[in-house]
Amino acid sequence: MRLFFWKDFLDLIFPRNCPLCGKSLFDFEPCLCTICQGTLPRANFHLRAFDNELTAKLQGLMPVNRAMAFIRFTKKGKSQKLLHLLKYRNKPEIGEEMGRLYGITLAQNGYEGEWDIIIPVPLHPLKQKRRGYNQSERFAYGLSQSLKIPAKELLERKKFTETQTKKSRLQRLENVDEVFDLKETENVSGLRILVVDDVITTGATLCACANVLLAYGAKHVDLATIAAGGQ
Ligand SMILES: [Zn+2]
Repeated sequence: MRLFFWKDFLDLIFPRNCPLCGKSLFDFEPCLCTICQGTLPRANFHLRAFDNELTAKLQGLMPVNRAMAFIRFTKKGKSQKLLHLLKYRNKPEIGEEMGRLYGITLAQNGYEGEWDIIIPVPLHPLKQKRRGYNQSERFAYGLSQSLKIPAKELLERKKFTETQTKKSRLQRLENVDEVFDLKETENVSGLRILVVDDVITTGATLCACANVLLAYGAKHVDLATIAAGGQ
């Protein structure tokens, strides 16, 4: 009882704070303060979607169409702090806000109507249980709000078993010990798909997801992450 009272009391006298700088948020600031939002290290890959370092990096792994990221990942920078809060500090609203903001940018650059569906990379079920949410799904949700395109969790992770015959070249190369598959009742044939994840490192996970969707007849697959590149 005492704890509940104390929390209510704190909520009342301390307004919401920006998770990056700690400054109090105004009512019109849903997650980040205006200054932090305005100074995010934007990657702008969407401006050269067919020809940027991210697309080039992935071309060896899959028939990549376009790849883009909202912000540049820099160690000890704002992007690292944001991703850490999103993944390990129970802040799903950061994923949603990154999606909402990037969706606005993409819509302003002519991407509205470019995709039929947004599909997040599924999280390992145990991780999702521990975390309580899938950060990539939150990013997909934010994007879908701004772009007016549905976001659906159509992929699932499956463990390799002895009976599953052989790993793909990519899986062997990247030591991916799980496979992705389309959920049984779903159909992606002919769809233009945007697959999204929180961050891109080797690209193995994103490409594994994209290859599955292409194998099930997707028209083409684009990739978008909250953060990419840099050190
Ligand atoms: Zn701030």
